[in-house]
Amino acid sequence: MLEKKEILDVEKVIRDFEVLTKDAENVQRETLKMILEENGCAEYLQNLGLNGRTDPESFKACVPLVTHKDLEPCIQRVADGAFSPILTGKPITTISITSGTTQGKPKFVPFNDEMMETTLQIFRTSFAFRNKEFPIENGRALQFIYSSKQIKTKGGLFAGTATSNVFRNSQFRKAMKAMQSECCSPDEVIFGPDFHQSLYCHLLCGLIFHEEIQLVSSTFAYSIVLAFRTFEQVWEELCDDIREGVLTSRITFPPVRSAMAKLLKPNPELADMIEKKCSGLNNWYGLIPELFPNVKYIYGIMTGCMEPYLKKLRHYAADVPLISADYGSSEGWIGANINPSLPPESATYAVLPNIGYFEFIPLKENVEEHMQENGNVSFLSMEPKPVDLTEVRVGEEYEVIITNFGGLYRYKLGDVVKVMGFHNSTPELKFVCRRNVMLAINIDKSTEQDLQFAVEEAAKLISKKKLEVIDFSSNVDVSTDPGHYVIFWEISGEVSDEVLTECCNCLDRSFVDGGYVSSRKVDAIGPLELRVVRRGTFQKVLDHYLGLGAALSQFKTPRCVGLTNNKVLQILCDNVAKNYFSTAF
Ligand code: AMP
Repeated sequence: MLEKKEILDVEKVIRDFEVLTKDAENVQRETLKMILEENGCAEYLQNLGLNGRTDPESFKACVPLVTHKDLEPCIQRVADGAFSPILTGKPITTISITSGTTQGKPKFVPFNDEMMETTLQIFRTSFAFRNKEFPIENGRALQFIYSSKQIKTKGGLFAGTATSNVFRNSQFRKAMKAMQSECCSPDEVIFGPDFHQSLYCHLLCGLIFHEEIQLVSSTFAYSIVLAFRTFEQVWEELCDDIREGVLTSRITFPPVRSAMAKLLKPNPELADMIEKKCSGLNNWYGLIPELFPNVKYIYGIMTGCMEPYLKKLRHYAADVPLISADYGSSEGWIGANINPSLPPESATYAVLPNIGYFEFIPLKENVEEHMQENGNVSFLSMEPKPVDLTEVRVGEEYEVIITNFGGLYRYKLGDVVKVMGFHNSTPELKFVCRRNVMLAINIDKSTEQDLQFAVEEAAKLISKKKLEVIDFSSNVDVSTDPGHYVIFWEISGEVSDEVLTECCNCLDRSFVDGGYVSSRKVDAIGPLELRVVRRGTFQKVLDHYLGLGAALSQFKTPRCVGLTNNKVLQILCDNVAKNYFSTAF
């Protein structure tokens, strides 16, 4: 008998979302109350003297703003198997390990059933809006998803990356079926121990089911680009496997081999067709729709540090829409993309007011005004006071603070967001950048976004020659006097010294931060250095992180390397092929 397929009631999901967002202020109060009632007995809250109070005012008066570092000892005790409630009322059974790619080292954060539920709520919400505009029916998804190794902490808790915790969850799998977005690859591939082998098999599965694929996705857009770059290298081998019905010997893990053997049958017609299509493409333009003629859209997080990969993704996608996935972190989800037809560069995320209690630290120019309005006249300390979810202002930038069901209270996430508008009474946020990724030598404060902009400008000079910057990072070199910015580039082919010197000058001129420009003019910052690294260097950086236990699904190339990730700096420096100094200014 055929299994009855449960289909998500998207109209109901949208109705529920509308109700929640119409009354965001009250929903926030109620959510905070629930979090504090559920976890009031936890040692962390007990020590702060809330004495059972659950209103936002008491909460803010008693509970300090914290970073991960402040909570680390508590989280470690949880991971070590502490018997008493430390951060949450109910025991934490799972730990998420963050990618560690922005701050240098992976961090532990608690994960529990409530966080799983919020994950599902976010996924369902964005799917409901997406499916109205881009319906998928009875299709399969080619998902480049990978699990990290699951380890057991000293206290016996399972620890893995947040995405792995989610992929393993049975409720999540059921939800994916209901959203008709089931991954076309068998579990053995997703949970395989070697990402190179899993990536090859994902591609093979996609080709086997090529007509049924309606969706190509990954957690972050980086993995989709990496997958099709790999396809360019291995497509002939993939065709051989399909032609003969025998998996290449490079896949060595027996469970992956036997799972793939069940899918792979000799199919010379399919192999011929793929070969013909690949040979007919111009520099792989439009590869995705060519291979998967029924694909409706491409889905994954495409904002923030993923934007530099969009150009390449568009090249592979031709006119297939790119839709950015939702906004969240291992620490918790924040918002859903409910405007899927917007291009990723304009994507915003509507905050779901019942998945956590959110506060926002005003940044930049709006600090003073917010402080006056909030009656905070301690201008001397200039400590900006966080505002509530419904108090944020359109056009302003803020740092996000999360309080959630997983034992984080007033936790500074370190992300900068800009309020673009409101959906009912909940804000729609644009992701701006990580707050701590910053190049600074003198009075300059160049953000991840400033760096991305400069690289984008300079890369235009090599795109005229049909070449591209595959990946990039940066560092401040203060071993010279004055110190200077160093930008590392991996490029897709050979470029003349003349053009690269021009790129170096362009990078130097394109940092828009006022502090940088004025410091450069008076030589308080030295000429910018462009270091071109050998092909495959950023793959070594990726391998380094995977070796530390990170999962490809959550990987983000570190855009600024230095003290906290010395090893990465060393990999980059060891692989420099050429370097150039700017003559601009
Ligand atoms: P991790 O928990 O290690 O996977 O990293 C979470 C971080 O990824 C967030 O704090 C953001 O900096 C970034 N991130 C997550 N979702 C998005 C998004 N939709 N757009 C831009 N950056 C994102």
